[in-house]
Amino acid sequence: MKKRKFLKISGALAVGAAVVPFSACNPDESTSSSTIGDAKSFTLPKLGYEYTALEPNIDAKTMEIHHSKHHAGYVKKFKKALADASISDKSLKDILTGLTDTDKDTALRNNGGGHFNHSLYWSTMTPTKTEPTGDILDALNSSFGSYNKFKEVFNRAAKLHFGSGWAWLCKGADGKLFVSSTENQDNPLMKNIVEQSGTPLLGIDVWEHAYYLKHQNRRGDYIGNFFNIIDWNKVAEYLKA
Ligand code: MN
Repeated sequence: MKKRKFLKISGALAVGAAVVPFSACNPDESTSSSTIGDAKSFTLPKLGYEYTALEPNIDAKTMEIHHSKHHAGYVKKFKKALADASISDKSLKDILTGLTDTDKDTALRNNGGGHFNHSLYWSTMTPTKTEPTGDILDALNSSFGSYNKFKEVFNRAAKLHFGSGWAWLCKGADGKLFVSSTENQDNPLMKNIVEQSGTPLLGIDVWEHAYYLKHQNRRGDYIGNFFNIIDWNKVAEYLKA
């Protein structure tokens, strides 16, 4: 059963048609500008902050288990799935955009998606409070009407998503921003699978493992806190890329 909610708000935003690349923390070079989507080898990224750094918005234990167990598990299983499918020397973005909704792609979809989604998630959070400014603020204003309206739409998509999954802020092929949500570890790069494809700029993990230790069933509290730790400078970088 496919149950995907889409909340699209159109706007008259015109930005360059270029796609990707994503910056990510490399475990060996934390200042590296190596990219998430362009990567052809896959390792657990080092976080740009300590597990305690996002408290009280996200607690240290949740961060530690989420990163060192959940994300590490996706990386491990993704590598196995790549070996099983005899895939090498292919970028993460190329792998994800080529996936189909068939059994043979399930392991790549769940674990490749899991690796990309979490890498993006860590990279767009920061202990230092930021606000959208410049091009990203203009883009939010023209696509959603205002930053507050965007918050409302994103909040609703994250809160109303049924079960495990993600809510996204994306850039569409036409340059406009939109909000959507996807099941499990799917993401908007999977153009053969999701209803609305685009380049993810920001994603919130709404699996219970992302918030249950601290917030239990109160997903709304977690989403509200997430707005305190979004790294809008990083989101702006992804918009520009
Ligand atoms: Mn997760």
